[in-house]
Amino acid sequence: MADCIFCKIIKGAIPSFKLYESERVFAFLDIQPLSQGHALVIPKHHGVKLTDIPDDQLEELMPVAKKLAKAMGGDNYNILQNNGRLAHQVVDHVHFHVIPKPDQEQGLGISWPAK
Ligand code: 5GP
Repeated sequence: MADCIFCKIIKGAIPSFKLYESERVFAFLDIQPLSQGHALVIPKHHGVKLTDIPDDQLEELMPVAKKLAKAMGGDNYNILQNNGRLAHQVVDHVHFHVIPKPDQEQGLGISWPAK
């Protein structure tokens, strides 16, 4: 979609720190991270809410989110997805937040791709 920030990121028209890309999925670091390694995993198919995305476009999303969580968050992380303004959705392109909660003393133990 022409005026969608995340569609522009997918196309490379807006720069991002890319973590993963496939035919249907794109993952990159959040510009205002809630913790170090805060990532966004998105379908390339444009849709505002989760219910707008065809099932086949969602199949790969959770495995990617899971790998990122493991790679960057170890055993402590949040995965969340907001729909609608009342639910704090700001960007109108479906996205899953992967928010690592690293051990404060050990920090991030990044090892991507995770096994
Ligand atoms: P929401 O509240 O819609 O679930 O979260 C949107 C997220 O997108 C926020 O965490 C915000 O920091 C992130 N974001 C918004 N614009 C950009 C951008 O241009 N680049 C990146 N990397 N993240 C963005």
